Parts: sequence; structure tokens; C-alpha cells
Amino acid sequence: MREGTVRGLLNGAGRPWQEGEVVAGVSYVPKGGEKVERVTAPLTLVCDGMFSTLRKRMMDAEIHKPSFFVGVILEDCPLPCPNHGHVVLADPSPILFYPISSTEVRCLVDIKGDKLPSAGNGDLAKYMQEVVGPQLPRTLQGPFLAAVEKGRFRSMQNKAMAAKPVCHAGAVMLGDSYNMRHPITGGGMTVALHDTQLLCEMLHPLPNFDDPLATASQTTSFFKARKPWAGTINTLANALYLVFCRNGQRWGDVMQEACFQYLKKGGWYAAGPVSLLSGLAPKPYVLVTHFFMVALYGVGGLLAPFPTPRSALLGLQLLWGALGIILPIVRAEGIRAVFFPSLVADPRVPGRGRAAALAGPVAAVALAVALAVLAQRWVQSPPAEAA
Ligand SMILES: Cc1cc2nc3c(=O)[nH]c(=O)nc-3n(C[C@H](O)[C@H](O)[C@H](O)COP(=O)(O)OP(=O)(O)OC[C@H]3O[C@@H](n4cnc5c(N)ncnc54)[C@H](O)[C@@H]3O)c2cc1C
Repeated sequence: MREGTVRGLLNGAGRPWQEGEVVAGVSYVPKGGEKVERVTAPLTLVCDGMFSTLRKRMMDAEIHKPSFFVGVILEDCPLPCPNHGHVVLADPSPILFYPISSTEVRCLVDIKGDKLPSAGNGDLAKYMQEVVGPQLPRTLQGPFLAAVEKGRFRSMQNKAMAAKPVCHAGAVMLGDSYNMRHPITGGGMTVALHDTQLLCEMLHPLPNFDDPLATASQTTSFFKARKPWAGTINTLANALYLVFCRNGQRWGDVMQEACFQYLKKGGWYAAGPVSLLSGLAPKPYVLVTHFFMVALYGVGGLLAPFPTPRSALLGLQLLWGALGIILPIVRAEGIRAVFFPSLVADPRVPGRGRAAALAGPVAAVALAVALAVLAQRWVQSPPAEAA
């Protein structure tokens, strides 16, 4: 193992890699060194995380930046349900609490927008004290304000990026460099580890990675094979985040309350969403079923015991709003790729497309030549009786 900072991808000639060429290795600065070195490999895994510098060379990334997470560590904080994660449905966006040791709880405050209140001039601490603190359950307020007082904030921009096939012979992208979703459900590592396992299984039949086109055939199938699974986790994360944010609309509040009451029912109602959240059974149709069941549950609550024109209108707004949340997310992931992967053509393997295009004419010419030679031999061959 060599440790270092990768500077760029290389082609077979050891020069900076250009699109269309086979990736043959990387240039890097070894840890503690200063000189750029090169290393060659038949297969390069690009997994340099959410701040990937290699990504922009390999794909057209459409990165959505919905919010920041600002983290603080709470000490000796009794959680309402010990050993469980908690989501506080605050205004304007949710706050997470989860234990990270027997004495510490991490709190992640979601702050919408593309700019954080400044920590330097005290605006961030003020926001925490005046906007976040009063919305927390009473038992959490003391430890939270004590942590804010210490002022050790860590912040991180939350990013979402739907994955599209990235086919470059000799390289594969994995993890956050390739695909991101809002971290509210903690889906990032689930997807990264699942992708890693799937890729290993798909590469397993290859004796080695020396044939870049044979390897690329497997890696391009990987992008299609991972989609229903990863797309479900991503859609769940991004949709749940939108449901958990206050949007200032009455239907949004009803949807949030319906989501809470639906999960509270337990049994089948909770088992499906939890199997999606945990990555145990992330099936696209399970996600869509539960998402619209929540919406219908909300509509049912509005119409009971007697529907009025007003509640019916609100119900319609809720259904329309639910569609407006999930449709753009699924569309960005690719409706066919997530729900009907068998209808999606395999991504084109670079180099193989040209080979396949040439294969037809070459085979036709070869067949014609062979027939001509056979015909000539037949014409020239002596009659049977003379033989
Ligand atoms: C606030 C927050 C909370 C989260 N909570 C959860 C959670 O509870 N559960 C969960 O599953 N996911 C969670 N995630 C998401 C999860 O952290 C990521 O999805 C996961 O770490 C992605 O793994 P990765 O290996 O792709 O990237 P990273 O873990 O970011 O690893 C990338 C690595 O590449 C290195 N690197 C970068 N550039 C170079 C270079 N040029 N040369 C060499 N090395 C380089 C980096 O130093 C880093 O070590 C959270 C994310 C955030 C932001």
C-alpha cells in the first residue's frame, strides 16, 4: 500500500489522461514527500469523497447543495430514547441527535441555504441559542446550550448528486465522488459499501484486469446493476429531507404529521420504511408504496370524520405536493433505471463501441472472401469422374 495525494489520472503513455483514453494509473505525491510520482494499474478506483477533485474530469456532475449540517457534541446528555437516533422536526429544518459513545451525543443541526451564519462574529452561536435551542425537547436544551457555549462547531455542506453511468476503460468511480444524497438518513456509507461489494462480485469472474475492455464491460454493467438499490436509498433520503423541512404550506405540515403518526403505528407501517432506511430491503416499489400511503394517511386524517370542501381541497394539495416532492427526485435518478432496469440498454463501453461497429463489416468482408475462395476452388476443381 502506498499513501499519498493523487494529483491526476494518467493514460497508458504516462501522460495526463484525456477523455476517450484508457486510464492506466495516477500521478501522486507520496505522504511526507514533495515530488510527484506515478503509479500504473490496470484498474483505478476513484473514490476521493464528496470534495472529489477527479470527478470533474470524469463526469458532468450536477451537484445540488440544499443545506449545511452544523455539528456539536453534547456531553452527559440523556436522550429521550437511550441508544436511539432522534430527529427533531424543527422549523425550518430537522435536527438530529444520536449517541456516538456511552457519554457523548452528536447533534447535527440542518441549516438551509448556501451560506452559514458566521461562526466568527457569533451569528452561528446566536442562531443556535435563539432559533434551535427553544425548539428542542426540554431534556436536551441544557446539554445543547452548554455545547453551544463551548463553541466547538463543525460544519459540512450537504450535497446531493444523482448517479449517471460513468464509463471510462481502466477506471471506476465509487462512494461520494460518484453519488451523493442528503445525509439525513445516513445512507452514504450504506450505498458506498453496498456498491463496493457489488463491484467486487461483478469483477470476481475476471482472471485479472489486464484487458481494459473486458473489465470495462463488467464495470459498465455495475452502473446499471446498482441503480435500483442505490436509487431507492437516495430517493428516500432526499424525499424524507423535504418532508421533514417546513415549507410554509399547510399541506406540508399535514404531511409531516402524517409521516410521524404513520411510523408511530409500528408493525407493517414502520417495518417497510425501516427496512428502506437501514438498507436491508431498499426496493423502489416499497418506497413508492409507503410514500403514497403516508400521503393517503394524511388525506384520510383530513377527511375524517366528515369531509368538507376545505379539507378535500387540502387533501388534493397534499397529494399534489407529495407528487411534487418525489417525482423530480426519481426523475433525476432515472425512472426507468430505478424501476425497470431491464428496459435500460447497457452503457456503451468506450472502445468497444467502435470495435462492435467494425465487427459487422469485417465479418461480412471475411465471409465474402471465404465464399469467393471456395467458389474459385470449386470451379477449378477437376470433375469427379476424371478424378
Ligand atoms: C455530516 C455528515 C454525516 C454523515 N453521517 C452518516 C451516517 O451516519 N451514516 C452513513 O452511512 N453515512 C453518513 N454520511 C455520509 C458518509 O460519511 C459518506 O457517504 C461516506 O463517508 C462516503 O465514503 P467515501 O469513501 O466515498 O468518501 P470519504 O469517506 O469522504 O473518503 C474519501 C477519502 O479520500 C481521500 N482523498 C480525497 N482526495 C484525495 C486525493 N486527491 N488523493 C488521495 N486521497 C484523497 C480523503 O482524504 C478521504 O479519506 C454522513 C455525511 C455527512 C456530511
